[in-house]
Amino acid sequence: MTKETLGYVKLEWVCPSCGTRNPGPQKLCANCGTAQPADVHFEEVAQDELLTDEAEIAKAKAGPDIHCAYCGTRNPAGSLKCSRCGAELKEGTARATGRVVGKYRTEAAPDVTCPSCGATNPANAAKCAKCGAPLTEPAEQAAPAAEPAAKKAGLPMGCLIIGALAVGAIILFMMLATRTKDVTGEVAATAWKRVVAIDALVPVQQQGWRDEIPQGATLESCREELRYTQKEPAAGAIQVCGTPYKVDTGSGYAEVVQDCVYQVYDDRCRYTVLAWTQVDQVVAQGQGDQPYWPAAVPAAGQRQGAVTEVYEVVFDSDGERYTYRTDDPDDYARFAVGSEWVLSINSFGDVTDVQPGQ
Ligand SMILES: [Zn+2]
Ligand SMILES: [Zn+2]
Ligand SMILES: [Zn+2]
Repeated sequence: MTKETLGYVKLEWVCPSCGTRNPGPQKLCANCGTAQPADVHFEEVAQDELLTDEAEIAKAKAGPDIHCAYCGTRNPAGSLKCSRCGAELKEGTARATGRVVGKYRTEAAPDVTCPSCGATNPANAAKCAKCGAPLTEPAEQAAPAAEPAAKKAGLPMGCLIIGALAVGAIILFMMLATRTKDVTGEVAATAWKRVVAIDALVPVQQQGWRDEIPQGATLESCREELRYTQKEPAAGAIQVCGTPYKVDTGSGYAEVVQDCVYQVYDDRCRYTVLAWTQVDQVVAQGQGDQPYWPAAVPAAGQRQGAVTEVYEVVFDSDGERYTYRTDDPDDYARFAVGSEWVLSINSFGDVTDVQPGQ
C-alpha cells in the first residue's frame, strides 16, 4: 500500500474551559486565554479546505508541537525555549501524531447560526462575524456513526433461520452416517473390474498468461485481464485509491492522505497445445479371486495411461443384500464366497466396516 499525500488541512480544538472552537494552530483560547492542554485532541472542522499558503503548509509539515513541562504551553516544533515561561523545551512532551481524525470532507457544510445574535456564519467560523461571540456549537452534522450498528441489528431473520436449518441438516447427516448397526453376513458374490487407459497426443484448448504459454502451442486469442495487485507503482499499472482521510500532524493541522494499490494487467490467452489425453481404454472384469489386468496394446502415437481397479463384495444377511466396495486387491482377496463376516451398516445402508465372523 502506498500512501499518497493530497495536502494539508487545518484542524480545530475546543477549549475545555469555555467551549470555544479555536483554529488548530492557535495555542491559547481566543475567548478565555486558556492554553490548549496536552490531552485535548485536535478535531476536524466542518468543511475541509486544502492549505494553499506555502508558509502555513511548512508549519503543517514541521512536526508535532511541544508542550512545556512547566506551564503546558504549546510551542512549535524546533523551539528551544517556551514562548510563555522561557523554560527549556528539552523536557517537554511532543504532541501525539498519526491519529486518524476523520474522512476528508470537501462537501459544503451548512452555515452556523450565532447563538447570541442569530447571524449566519460560514461553517468553519470560530467567531460570529457580526457580534464577535464565540460559535461554541461544534458543527455536528457528521452524525451517521450509529449506522453500522443499526445494519447489524437488521440482519434478516430469514438468513438466521436458513442458517440454523443448514446446520441442523449437516448435524443430522453426520449422525445418520456415523450411527451404525452390526449384522452378520455371508459372502454371496464377488466381482472385479480393472481398466487401463490408452492415451494419445490430442490438441487441447487451455488458458494462461502470455508468458506461461508452452512452446509449440497455437495461440488463439488474448485479452487484457487483472493479473495481480501490488503495493508499489509499476509501469502501465492502474492506481486504485481508497477514500482520502486526515491524519493529525500534532501542530494543529492534518495531512490528507489516501492509501493506494496498483493493479497490473496482462494478456490472458487461449491456446491449443498437444496433451496426452485418454482416447480409449481396455477393460477386464469378472467374478471370483483371480483378477487380472487387461492387455493394453497402444497403437502408433499412443501410450498406456492411468490404471483403475474396483472390487465389489455382495453380502447376504437374512435375505438383505449389502455391497462393500474397495480399490485394494489385498482387501478384496479376504472374501471367499460362503465365508461369514460381521458388517457395520450405517443409516443409509452403506457398509462402513467388515470384520471376520466367529
Ligand atoms: Zn476558552
Ligand atoms: Zn512554559
Ligand atoms: Zn453573533
